[in-house]
This record gives sequence, structure tokens and C-alpha cells, in this order.
Amino acid sequence: MSIAANIADIKNGIGTTTTLVAVSKYSPLQAVQEAYDAGQQDFGENKAQDLAARWQQLPSDIRWHFIGHLQSNKVKYIAPFVHLIHSVDSLKLLEEIEKQAAKNSRIIPCLVQVHIASEESKFGLDEGEVIDLLQHPSLAQMQHVQIKGLMGMATNTTTVPVVMREFESLHKLYIRLSEMNELPANVNMEVLSMGMSGDYQMAIKAGSNMVRIGSALFAE
Ligand SMILES: *Cc1c(COP(=O)(O)O)cnc(C)c1O
Repeated sequence: MSIAANIADIKNGIGTTTTLVAVSKYSPLQAVQEAYDAGQQDFGENKAQDLAARWQQLPSDIRWHFIGHLQSNKVKYIAPFVHLIHSVDSLKLLEEIEKQAAKNSRIIPCLVQVHIASEESKFGLDEGEVIDLLQHPSLAQMQHVQIKGLMGMATNTTTVPVVMREFESLHKLYIRLSEMNELPANVNMEVLSMGMSGDYQMAIKAGSNMVRIGSALFAE
């Protein structure tokens, strides 16, 4: 199938209330252009410098998502244009995003990455740490950062109940936070980013409204 056909197929499957982020990290520029020409506008990359290079080379109305682990010293490369950072996992990183966003006179929307998988290697905070971060007094002072929701990655397994349970736990936290009154004004639960090529159908069943799909979209 062509990239355009893959996009149509995936969009058909996820419905109109779920945003498709096309993860282009393993794909050549020309494939990204092809997806863009097919109407895809949201793209995700996991390396700051690669993302900055593609932003310069590709159409300016692409919404670029940063989905990988982000080191504080790399924020400056993406701050001028990034549409959504999915992987905030520390106050230190948020402070740097605030600083770089201010420098660029913009507000940068962010998601907090939550650790839901049983694998040790996946990044992200646990529930208690997420709440501590969102209630930290200095977050409320940040004028150039907006927390828009949560991101998580399930365990890489074909055992359906395990994946389902992890996605459901993240959705539960998302709902709990959206009902919490003690959060600052720059925290709003609008985006629940979960689901990749192998598990996005389950993620949507569990309440995801943003999926990040690479291989299933770009494989021809
Ligand atoms: C690579 C990546 C994806 C896409 O993975 P596929 O299995 O190729 O769909 C989604 N989210 C994150 C955080 C990634 O690093």
C-alpha cells in the first residue's frame, strides 16, 4: 500500500476525534513529504536536531511533535517551532522549556510522560511523581509553558490484557487529574497521547485521543 492509502486506512480506523501523529523518525524526507501531500499535518520525531533540520526542510505549516526523551540542553533546537512536547519528565526540563519558550516569545504546549509499562527501560514518571510535578509551586509561575495532558507507552508485548490494563491505568490518571481542583491554571487535561503501530486500537478503546504511529504508516 502507498503512504496515502495507509493514512486513509488508519484515519478511518481511529475516527475523527483522535489525532494521528505520523512518526517519521525512521523515514526519509521524501516519505514525510508524501504523507504531507496526502493531507497529514502532524508529525513526530524523537531527536531534537533531526526535528529542527526537518522543520527547515519541509512545509512550514507542519505541526511538529517531539516524542522522545528530551535532554535539557537540546530544548533550544526545537523551542522556536515545536507544536507539542510529549515527553516532559522532570521539573528541570520544564524550567528549561519555560526559559527557551520565553526567549522565543511563545507558549510551548507539553504533555507529561507517565511510566505505565512493566519494562524498566521506558522513561516517564509514576503517578505520585506526576502529581508532585503538577502541584509544584514553580510550575504555576511559568508563563510560557502549558501542560495539556499525558503521554504513555505500554509494555512491548502481544499479551492483550497487559497492554489494556496499562492504557486503562493511564486513562484513569488522566480523568483523575482533569477532575482535580488544586492544579494551576496552566495545567489542563485535553490530550491523552497513547498508542503506537502495534497497539493503537487498544489505546483508543482505553480512551486515547492522540496516537503516534510510525511503522504502520510509512511501511509500503
Ligand atoms: C517510535 C515511536 C513511536 C512510533 O512507533 P511505531 O511502532 O513505529 O508506530 C511512537 N511513540 C514513541 C514515543 C516512539 O518513540
